[in-house]
Amino acid sequence: MGSKRPSIFNLGVPEGAEVTYSMQISRRGFVAGAGTLLAGCAARRVAVGPTAGGARLARVRVAQDRVIRTIAGLRPFRPSGFVVRAEKMGEKLVVHNYGHGGSGITLSWGTSLLAVEEAAKSEARDCAVLGCGVVGLSTARVLQQRGYHPVIYAREMPPSTTSNVAGGLWEPVSLFDGDRVTPEFRRQYGEAARLAHRRYQSLASERYGVRWLPMYQLSQTAIQAPRADNPASDIESLYPETKQLAPGEHPFAVPYVQRRYSMLIEPAIYLQAMIADFQSGGGRIAVREFRSVSEILALRESLIFNCTGLGARTLFGDAELIPIKGQLAFLLPQPEVDYMTLGPGGIYMFPRHDGILLGGSFERGVDNTDVVPETIARILRENAAVFGGMRA
Ligand SMILES: Cc1cc2nc3c(=O)[nH]c(=O)nc-3n(C[C@H](O)[C@H](O)[C@H](O)COP(=O)(O)OP(=O)(O)OC[C@H]3O[C@@H](n4cnc5c(N)ncnc54)[C@H](O)[C@@H]3O)c2cc1C
Repeated sequence: MGSKRPSIFNLGVPEGAEVTYSMQISRRGFVAGAGTLLAGCAARRVAVGPTAGGARLARVRVAQDRVIRTIAGLRPFRPSGFVVRAEKMGEKLVVHNYGHGGSGITLSWGTSLLAVEEAAKSEARDCAVLGCGVVGLSTARVLQQRGYHPVIYAREMPPSTTSNVAGGLWEPVSLFDGDRVTPEFRRQYGEAARLAHRRYQSLASERYGVRWLPMYQLSQTAIQAPRADNPASDIESLYPETKQLAPGEHPFAVPYVQRRYSMLIEPAIYLQAMIADFQSGGGRIAVREFRSVSEILALRESLIFNCTGLGARTLFGDAELIPIKGQLAFLLPQPEVDYMTLGPGGIYMFPRHDGILLGGSFERGVDNTDVVPETIARILRENAAVFGGMRA
């Protein structure tokens, strides 16, 4: 646990550095040392390759002239993990629910259910939710389902939140540094992951933009199960039918491939559906920026949920919160692509209705959302090598 080596929960990179090849983005094992990338380039046609059980995988067509947009966002990361805790401030009870790193979509329902449990310490039914990202919206929905009357106050609304930038894979990643987690956090993490996983299963539908897909983790080195001191080992059961594939069982030109199943949650669809649910449940949203805690404590509501993501850094003075910048490129949609890839190195591909998402940047401590052409070019190049190298 005290190790400083790069791992799922220990990003192990210098402040401000952009992490590329040595970044492990999967919860299971290292996807490291991908300095030798696969030969190959963007495919010009839709080709297919074999996979386990005789299914065929459509090739992602990676090419500069297929890029439809690029974006960047800041993951709200805390080395010791997210904060779910109640705090008495004057006459008010403030329940914090922020700091989800690269796992806010994944864990939102879980930490929100835990946060609302904290509110049982208050008699109040009228409450304020600060923030209208995925965490604020799920907190507000849980509150409504428990008979509370929440109002959401937020500076930004979807589609302008960090939650809209998320890739949307259900997978707890970039969430904490392994040497900083406490037993109490580990308990909350396991509980939040299981609660959230269960809730998303019940939302798997076109209306919410949630679906199950196979995910192929591609690696130059053997993919290990998480060690017992890694909290990820507590949620292994959430990945049924995980399998290491033999070379003939997949089309990828890497030595190690693991297939498992997870959910893809498409933020553009999902967040709009959550807003619609909140509003049809009688919820009201007020666009408002808070500049200080005293402005917050002046609110009419005596029960306040702090779901401000990275905003909690200045608003509540949490110096542990740091951004991990991520940049994404979207290609023209390819409806025939029905799988996800992670790796090698830190790259990933998710097939969404609003485009094929290509990612792979984890820039710790970088506090701007500028899209850097060189980073996008690298993400395209490395993903092109993966799909160009697929066996036809
Ligand atoms: C490139 C990238 C890829 C990602 N991929 C994934 C993924 O695949 N899966 C996953 O689970 N997660 C992923 N994430 C992480 C995910 O996006 C975040 O963890 C999540 O969005 C955090 O949600 P949030 O609601 O806490 O914050 P936000 O979405 O940032 O919402 C915060 C809200 O608080 C409001 N607010 C903040 N400060 C103030 C203030 N002073 N006054 C009023 N309102 C305020 C904001 O306006 C906003 O409404 C990714 C992130 C990035 C950048």
